[in-house]
Parts: sequence; structure tokens; C-alpha cells
Amino acid sequence: MIYILTGGPATGKGTRSEILAKALNIPHIATGDMLREVAQTNEEIAQRLQRGELISDDVITKLLEERITREDCKDGFVLDGYPRTYRQAELLDEILAKHNMSITKVMELVVPDELAFKRILERKKCENCGRVYGIDFPSKVEDVCDDCGGHLSVRTDDTRETLAKRINTYRENAKAILEFYREKGLLMTVDASHNPESVVEDAKL
Ligand SMILES: [Zn+2]
Repeated sequence: MIYILTGGPATGKGTRSEILAKALNIPHIATGDMLREVAQTNEEIAQRLQRGELISDDVITKLLEERITREDCKDGFVLDGYPRTYRQAELLDEILAKHNMSITKVMELVVPDELAFKRILERKKCENCGRVYGIDFPSKVEDVCDDCGGHLSVRTDDTRETLAKRINTYRENAKAILEFYREKGLLMTVDASHNPESVVEDAKL
């Protein structure tokens, strides 16, 4: 069982990957987390991340290969944040073939743009403890933190314009990758505008 979850900003990729991985009892591999973990023992990667440099497709794929051939991945895994480029999609195919593995399904999470805007631009943060609230998981009392009673304020670095740009960038990048998987008959489009738990049922379709 190898699932790839992909989607633009505010599609809840991380949350859904986590839920699916738990339901299937396989690891959730978020490549961002994987890189941060590797950086703890690999000075070169640590420095590159610190400088905000890109990690090359070859390097990240090698790290991924090392990760998915560990014992805990023997029944499969959920990939989140990879492939980000067409080249990565090709490299992934190569390493999977090498280890006799194959992708079960690629799930593209989609939400209407208006909902993506609402989810990100209306995200609130507790000024006291830092807990984050959103339109899908609001505080019980408006603008009051459930945990500490602190005041919630809108906290985002995004404006409508920067967010629109991020959504467009995602679509531009994703186009070729999605086509790659569509041709293989692996692509499924999932409505990610409601209940994240539904990802488990979607995965069985
Ligand atoms: Zn709080």
C-alpha cells in the first residue's frame, strides 16, 4: 500500500496523510520532516536547510530510498510532500521498481479557491500559548483560547495576493506530475473541502 497525497495550499495534506497512515497502520512520510530528521546527523544537509537552499532531486530521492526500505515500511507508507518535481516522480518510479514496490494510488486533494483563502487568511493564533485555530477547527468561544483563555488574533504572513500566487505556483508545478500519474491510471481527485476522515474511504475506492 503506497499512497501519495498531493495538493496545494490549505488542502489539508498533512492532516489527511496522518489520518490515512494511522488507519492503514503504515508510516506517514513527510519529506520536510524527513529532511529535518536527517539534518540532525548530517552536517551538509543541516547547513543547506539553514541557508534555505534547495536539496537536489537526487539527494532527496536517495534519502527517501533509505527511508522507505526500512522495516516499518514493509506494508507500505503514505508520502506527503514528494514528488514535487517531474524529475522526482521519475526517480521515485525507479527506486520503487528497484525494490519491487508500486504505487497504489495518487490522491490529489482539491478545495475551491475561496475555501483555501478562508482557511489560510482566517487562521487565528492564541497570543498567549500559540495554539492555532482555523475555520474548520474554531475555538469554542469566539477569539478566546480553549486552553488558556488567551486572546486570539489573525496571524498570517499571507495576503490574498501572495496566497493566490502560491496556489498558481503549485498548479504550474503539479501539472506535469499529475499528468504523469494520470497516464498510469493512478490519479484520483479527492474533494478536501470537508471531513478529513473521509480520506480513508476515498483511499479504498
Ligand atoms: Zn492559549
